[in-house]
Amino acid sequence: MSTEPKRSLNFIEEIIEEDNRTGKWGGRVHTRFPPEPNGYLHIGHAKSICLNFGLAQKYGGKFNLRFDDTNPAKEEQEYVDSIIEDVRWLGADWEDRLLFGSDYFQQMYDYAVQLIKQGQAYVCELSPDEVRDTRGTLTHPGQPSPFRERSVQENLDLFERMRRGEFPDGARTLRAKIDMGHPNMNMRDPVMYRILHASHHRSGEAWCVYPMYDWAHGLEDSVEGITHSICTLEFEAHRPLYDWFLDQLGAYHPQQIEFARLNLTYTVMSKRKLLELVQEGRVRGWDDPRMPTIAGLRRRGYTPEAIREFCNRIGVAKTESTVSIDLLEHCLREDLNRRAPRVMGVLRPLRVVIDNYPEGKVEELEAVNNPEDARMGTRRVPFSRVLYLERDDFMESPPKQFFRLAPGREVRLRYAYFVKCTSVVKDPKTGEVAELHCTYDPATRGGDAPDGRKVKATLHWVSAEHARDAEVRLYDRLFVKEDPEEVEPGQDYKSNLNPDSLDVLSGCKVEPALAGAAPLSRYQFERQGYFCVDPDTAPERLVFNRTVPLRDTWAKIQQKETGRT
Ligand code: ATP
Ligand code: MG
Repeated sequence: MSTEPKRSLNFIEEIIEEDNRTGKWGGRVHTRFPPEPNGYLHIGHAKSICLNFGLAQKYGGKFNLRFDDTNPAKEEQEYVDSIIEDVRWLGADWEDRLLFGSDYFQQMYDYAVQLIKQGQAYVCELSPDEVRDTRGTLTHPGQPSPFRERSVQENLDLFERMRRGEFPDGARTLRAKIDMGHPNMNMRDPVMYRILHASHHRSGEAWCVYPMYDWAHGLEDSVEGITHSICTLEFEAHRPLYDWFLDQLGAYHPQQIEFARLNLTYTVMSKRKLLELVQEGRVRGWDDPRMPTIAGLRRRGYTPEAIREFCNRIGVAKTESTVSIDLLEHCLREDLNRRAPRVMGVLRPLRVVIDNYPEGKVEELEAVNNPEDARMGTRRVPFSRVLYLERDDFMESPPKQFFRLAPGREVRLRYAYFVKCTSVVKDPKTGEVAELHCTYDPATRGGDAPDGRKVKATLHWVSAEHARDAEVRLYDRLFVKEDPEEVEPGQDYKSNLNPDSLDVLSGCKVEPALAGAAPLSRYQFERQGYFCVDPDTAPERLVFNRTVPLRDTWAKIQQKETGRT
């Protein structure tokens, strides 16, 4: 039985349940996720995907993946492919409804002709600048275009010629004839079509007039029989236009519902900015593990389950807020804790010789794969005379609070023996600790002393002879400020980039069980965090990304707030 408290309905679920009660859509629920293929998807899009797909699932409805591909200037096949991969990876299922707005270009055109015939659209010859300059302000009405009163016949003829390619880019637009004095600026004769002699990634050269977002989007929803057209708050002021177009056309009319977009601390989420980071080489690509893109999160080691759980927990609201990235990482740790096999990996190796351990001897010690899940079983880890320990786990002159290895001190090696440090070898040139010598107590095999003596630390290790070489990439936040947009005058968000967001460690040593680990497989390196095999990995040199360290800031804060320890 689930111990989860029953969540109350969010405001969109309330709308849907009310619609189902009144029979508004005949009990249908049909949502869509409508990305423009001009960049990779990010964690904010995941919120929208989980919301739209989740509602369809919950109410036995349908979910479309629809590309809003109406702007050939910025769109590319690469983005289409990545979006399909990412939505699928997140677990949303569009069945056979992978749809493209560009497939409706003819229908949209026909609808535009209908509006012209109804006297509600006209061909305007003002330049884009002139259109903007005559729109008026919030306090002043706009000026009517000198082309506003053209006859239907003339408009039909000109629009047809626009489509045939008779005019250069920008020379004409088709505008809706609504109200130049409307208090909502979006209603002041908005542009419906512009001329753009550009090749489209799907329709090729077939069109040189392209629909604007507000015209296209509602029609796409309408054609597909969407019931609840869910979008982010910035479209609230566009809703009257969405409604006006569909009402004038007498077309099937979905309901637009706005919700607050996801904002995350330490993160920029604008596609324009993410593109800039990629193009300027500030990151290694769209799938750089520091990026908030789905592709980046996947490469970092995120699971779709963790992202879905995060989306579930943040809920859906009507007002903007910023969510702590600690919550996202908390959801990830919870999930990885359940599923990631434990292994031992030494990031900054220090050679340790167990002087009283027989030369050439190898023992296969039993190690637990996941203490959270007995079904994951155990594995054998080789132990021998020369080991690697973590450099940070040794101090020559330790302060009081340091309980790990030090000269004369005894610690436990995980799954193995108690060892005691007997001497320290230093590099004669640098004075740096080069090697430790220890003795082990054979009676402590498996980790406890028969005489009951205690040690204060348990350390991870790998056998030198059996270890595999690895490169480990450690990540820190991409931005140093919680709000990357908080900048000094004259600076932009890039001034807040963290110069130390990537730290590449080569010469790491991991246990042999990791040989041949598949790209994107995930592990917990004991005491070090969660790691994911990077696609750059190779048999002779494994490559790992650290997904997150173990310390869970969010859980700590929650514990403090609820008074638990
Ligand atoms: P732009 O339109 O500036 O290119 P966009 O992020 O809005 O960028 P779209 O491809 O239009 O990109 O977005 C697809 C869908 O994802 C839209 O319905 C949009 O409202 C939603 N979406 C985008 N960003 C977020 C976010 N941060 N949180 C929730 N939903 C988002
Ligand atoms: Mg958008």
